[in-house]
Amino acid sequence: LKLCENIPKVELHAHLNGSVRPQTIKDILDERSRAGEALGVTEQQLADITVGGERSLRDCFRLFDVIHAVTTTHAAISRIAAEVVRDFAADRVVYLELRTTPKARPEYGMTKESYTEAVLDGIDAALRQLRAVPPRAASQQQLLLAAQAQAVGGPGASGPGAGAGAGAGASGAQGADGVGVTSPSHEQLVAASEGVVLSPRAGQRTTAAGGGLHASSSGAAAAAETAAAGSEGAQGPRPGPGPGLESGLESGLESGLETAPHLIIVKLLLSIDRREDAAAAMETVQLAARLQSRGVVGVDLSGNPYVGSWAQWQGALAAARGAGLRVTLHAGEVVAPEEVRAMLAWRPERLGHCCCLDAELAAQLKASAIPLELCLTSNVLTQSVPSYPEHHFAELYAAGHPVVLCTDDSGVFGTTLSREYAIAAAAFKLPVSALHELARRSLEYTFASETEKAQLRRLMERELAALE
Ligand code: 5GP
Repeated sequence: LKLCENIPKVELHAHLNGSVRPQTIKDILDERSRAGEALGVTEQQLADITVGGERSLRDCFRLFDVIHAVTTTHAAISRIAAEVVRDFAADRVVYLELRTTPKARPEYGMTKESYTEAVLDGIDAALRQLRAVPPRAASQQQLLLAAQAQAVGGPGASGPGAGAGAGAGASGAQGADGVGVTSPSHEQLVAASEGVVLSPRAGQRTTAAGGGLHASSSGAAAAAETAAAGSEGAQGPRPGPGPGLESGLESGLESGLETAPHLIIVKLLLSIDRREDAAAAMETVQLAARLQSRGVVGVDLSGNPYVGSWAQWQGALAAARGAGLRVTLHAGEVVAPEEVRAMLAWRPERLGHCCCLDAELAAQLKASAIPLELCLTSNVLTQSVPSYPEHHFAELYAAGHPVVLCTDDSGVFGTTLSREYAIAAAAFKLPVSALHELARRSLEYTFASETEKAQLRRLMERELAALE
């Protein structure tokens, strides 16, 4: 697991509300009940979120409904988005494509647009914080160490511990907030102590908080800021009661300064829920098209696979394509050969899952070469595949099909991307060099711009070379 935590990774399939920290849901519920609000969520339902472990796909969707029942304010949505970004950054994810379903909830004064903007605000706040940890968070000792490191490495120094310097080359849609990467040395990374386990871990998620001191190419101030981030990072997400909702996002950010040793590029996909009809799906696509300048790069089709039918979203998905958005589809989570056939024929840019394909569809998938987002723990816990070693990753990987390891719902399934890499290594007997190659190739299947990909390629090559 330690080796996997050090790998710069790419996450392409992470649902925002499935990646929520269980503690955050508890915090929000506590806060609301203190304010005398009844959200209609029982103790048992709350326990289900925090206990983790095996649950059927149907149970998972009931759980998402509970999470959605709790997350009804813009402040809560922004807080969750900010925390999720920081958690992925702490797990050494250098590129994150987060996805979420825009929700219109007039009873809470929320439109699809205001919901999505709250998500984007949370992402932006986390990126700002990752780029500039408040100096007051650094102790005198950390500032001294940062200054020493800066004196040794100096601006623009190369090698482990020096900044990668990608911060200046900002991603188009997000401006300077989108990119900013520094690379700590191997020793500076704080690794979690658990080993690789093949049985899914029930309970809380692993937090692979990074930490440590390093000089950054932007000079002493940044080095000091990063030292502060490193110091906080070693602590991981703060346990215990979090900030109240009234105190809002900034307070949430300050209370959980488990910042990563590096920053990441984050993009957003807007999900069409399979419960939505053609008009609702079109509304989401139009919103995604409008918000491209804020880092929305694509559209996803997800939600309960037992609900809805492909034809009802095709118009919206075609419109997404017409607007220059990329499309990824959840496919084959349950046995639905006609739908999977239609999806393959439509040729989305990526597919997710594809667990329940017969031999003919599996052959069609391979022939299509459509990159596949694979979520090992999610698929095993929801019993979509019987066990890790039997996961279709093995066959597709052996066939050279483009595959990307992803978390799906890291909060709900108690996992991290590093852990998914470690599980793949153990289950499929992959050497570290193969994991590095997986991470490298994942980058090619992102919906990032070519400029961003080039920046990330340089960063990953440098970091992987240091590990090899
Ligand atoms: P949100 O879109 O609210 O940020 O994230 C939770 C939602 O993502 C769920 O309500 C569901 O629609 C979708 N989702 C999360 N995990 C899965 C999954 O494994 N399969 C499918 N089909 N949808 C999922």
